[in-house]
Amino acid sequence: MNAHNEELIKTIDLYKRFGSLEVLKGISTSFEKGDVAVIIGPSGSGKSTFLRCLNLLETPTSGQVIFEGVDITRAGHDLDLHRRKMGMVFQLFNLFPHMNVLDNITLAPIKLRGLTKEEAENRAMELLKRVGLTDKAQVFPPKLSGGQKQRIAIVRALAMQPDVMLFDEPTSALDPEMVGEVLEVMRDLASEGMTMIVVTHEMRFAREVGKRILFMDSGIIAEEGPPDKIFGNPENPRTREFLRKVL
Ligand code: ADP
Ligand code: MG
Repeated sequence: MNAHNEELIKTIDLYKRFGSLEVLKGISTSFEKGDVAVIIGPSGSGKSTFLRCLNLLETPTSGQVIFEGVDITRAGHDLDLHRRKMGMVFQLFNLFPHMNVLDNITLAPIKLRGLTKEEAENRAMELLKRVGLTDKAQVFPPKLSGGQKQRIAIVRALAMQPDVMLFDEPTSALDPEMVGEVLEVMRDLASEGMTMIVVTHEMRFAREVGKRILFMDSGIIAEEGPPDKIFGNPENPRTREFLRKVL
């Protein structure tokens, strides 16, 4: 394997059922190092469930997730160890409201990565600088705007130095005027070479930043390809129908 197509995550025939509801119906795909994959598709098509299966926040009903060469769906290994290498950013920011921004960011690196408080805080301040929020280090989350909270949530995930960042509709809960500042942080991350898997309805971002678009429909990846192909000349009628509605 060369550096250009080092496989980071691979799923093999992934299924997920909730009771009688089959949500994922056999997903086999892979994500390389440096990939910026954008997952689009109708509400309820299984996008969140798929992301959550990648880091085993949901346990797949069958199939495998291979992360950095290890089958993490097999019992008997340190799941937390792998999970720590996958940063996740959700629609709702999930910051601890009773801790200031700096403590929110340094908690996991100190507890789980064994950084000293000083090391963790130095790194946190550097990351805050990157997203333009050094002045918020001592502030508590309820005092922040949605856009600021989400930028902090991204920083918190980055503070663990993950090998991949998973984003589940990170701008969907934001007021429109705050969407841009979050997308800009994500755009910077992508240009720095971070491996990213992003579920979003922001089609312009998908087209401009995505290296690869995956269209999910009813629990399968119905079509995938480079942005120009998916947005310019989609083959699957379902993709066309979806894009006609959202563009
Ligand atoms: P998307 O993110 O594409 O909107 P989801 O993955 O959230 O889709 O959901 C796909 C389907 O799975 C939906 O019908 C949803 O109601 C169902 N679902 C998701 N999570 C659960 C759960 N924990 N228990 C039961 N049903 C769920
Ligand atoms: Mg979702």
